[in-house]
Amino acid sequence: MPIRVLSEQLASQIAAGEVVERPASVVKELVENALDAGATTINVDVRAGGRKLIQVADDGEGISTSDVQTAFKRHATSKLQSIEDLNHIETLGFRGEALAAISAVSQVTVVTRAARETRGTRLTLAGGQLLGQETVGAPQGTVIAVENLFYNVPARLKFLKSIATERRLIDEFVTRYALAYPQVRFRLTHDGRIAFQSSGSNNLRDVLAAVYGPETARDLLPISSAAAVDDEDAAAPETPDAPFPLSPPLPRHQVTVSGFAGPPSLHRSNRSQITLFVNGRWIKDNSLTYAVLQAYHTLLPVGRYPVAVIFISLPYDLVDVNVHPAKTEVRFRQAGAVFSAVQRAVRETVVADAPVRGFTQMRPEGVFSWGGSVDRPSFARQDEAGRVPAGHLHGQMNLEFPRAAPVAPFMPRPDGYERLPAAADDDDLGGERLPVMRVVGQVGTAYIVTEGPDGLFLIDQHAAHERILYEQFMDAWNHQQVASQGLVAGAAVYVTPAQASLLEEYLAALHKLGFAIELFGPNSFMVRAIPAILIHQDPAKAVLAVVEELEEDDRRAPLQNQIEARLIRRVCKTAAVKAGQPLALAEMQAMIQQLEQCRNPHTCPHGRPTLIHISLAQLARGFART
Ligand code: ADP
Ligand code: MG
Repeated sequence: MPIRVLSEQLASQIAAGEVVERPASVVKELVENALDAGATTINVDVRAGGRKLIQVADDGEGISTSDVQTAFKRHATSKLQSIEDLNHIETLGFRGEALAAISAVSQVTVVTRAARETRGTRLTLAGGQLLGQETVGAPQGTVIAVENLFYNVPARLKFLKSIATERRLIDEFVTRYALAYPQVRFRLTHDGRIAFQSSGSNNLRDVLAAVYGPETARDLLPISSAAAVDDEDAAAPETPDAPFPLSPPLPRHQVTVSGFAGPPSLHRSNRSQITLFVNGRWIKDNSLTYAVLQAYHTLLPVGRYPVAVIFISLPYDLVDVNVHPAKTEVRFRQAGAVFSAVQRAVRETVVADAPVRGFTQMRPEGVFSWGGSVDRPSFARQDEAGRVPAGHLHGQMNLEFPRAAPVAPFMPRPDGYERLPAAADDDDLGGERLPVMRVVGQVGTAYIVTEGPDGLFLIDQHAAHERILYEQFMDAWNHQQVASQGLVAGAAVYVTPAQASLLEEYLAALHKLGFAIELFGPNSFMVRAIPAILIHQDPAKAVLAVVEELEEDDRRAPLQNQIEARLIRRVCKTAAVKAGQPLALAEMQAMIQQLEQCRNPHTCPHGRPTLIHISLAQLARGFART
């Protein structure tokens, strides 16, 4: 083929792909424009996860009639004039690409009136082509409606995820910006229903409560602002590909870190709740995310991640925001200094809080530590019934929970089950059954020691219990007899807007597992019933654990029935006895008997081993008896 210059329209569509990847990117660009225009109120209305409509209305400075058409041209911006300006970008936009890109791949209507003008303008475009312009009466500000996104780019349309996923990504963007701009009033609706609202009161706590729910918001610790950077830190290594020439260390106080960090007791299964802003711009940065993780080093259980909202401010000329058209990546002139400023500010905040809350709240999650002066007998004293007296547990969790107090009867749920496909570990896949064993005792409040016909077994109490509950649950499921336990009072659960969309989407699936959960308010749910095996758990925490599993799943977009199997595994994990929990002899005996009944007793449902066998021959070898 001969070499040809692409048509203007094709070139725009290709360029648009870098800026507008999905509905959430449109929301991001339009909201950033509204913020750049000094809006104090921003309303985002979305239909069908943004496929049908994304409308962003602001009360900012508006676009003057003479500029409106230009605004939709490629590389048209009012925010940048010369190459020098690039060194101190104070606005969120500057590349002049967003409106052109959006209008190239959708049908756009804009109504706007500039502050100084008396009449407004309405402009319509489709596929980048101007359809019409008229003068209209309009309040000051700008309303941009983007309809039928990607209607002319079928390839992109195909790559969009489910409506629920796109919705959630939009929720994440809007809530992030609401956190960074607490002085701006945000409102987000999906299909006419309010999903999120912030007051614009300029009180970050209010926004935190709206985003994370009142309980989490209360727990978040304010990061002491103005973390100074030592000269020593400032000399830390630079990013190898820093686009700037080497420069002297940053003077003190040039990097300010503020925001909120969760106490160590608040942790999540992934790092998506670490949110970073640089000079008011939401960014993705693996290195700074790692700085936050480092700040929590040894304070969080393995494989768990903190919640944090971090605002970094530094002189504009020390950060390059022009790295990618989406503007979510930045480069720091002195990455090492910023890294240590973040790490130190978060660490100081978290450690200051840790002695009071971190340690005590971590234990029930299964993190076991030998610290402290608590005397921790490996065998808890028992009464005649084999039960450990409550006072003997040093505040640890007892198997009997007084709190759930359920009274409603167990309800079998015969409706709507299909047999789940056997996961790799489900049916008898050569998994050898266990011999009959005699319980000897507990070690480290985590392992049960038993004697079998040929030597001894060390059994991981958590993994084993998970296996038992899992097989019981799967049997009940396959016989359509999953038991559900009604909660007399109900339990309220507060989640993020993103989690709320997700939970709503799976309410029916969860119902089959024995949960009855209703929408309760914006981002809150009322739990009316839980699977019977969870009766000893805090219902709200159990639901949150399940939501986390859904979040994980959503990233991998698996098949529907696999989600159910994974949810069941998660429920069993939540219900299972944790490490660090003393068990009475009778409890251990009951557990071992049930493990002996299991079809696949050797691994937990996640594939980890439940037991270690040491044969008599191995013992003899070990003692040099042979
Ligand atoms: P950029 O934001 O990089 O300048 P955009 O394509 O997003 O590029 O917008 C082009 C121009 O249109 C902006 O520079 C700004 O002058 C104007 N504009 C866009 N959205 C708004 C808005 N909501 N209010 C006022 N002006 C706007
Ligand atoms: Mg812009």
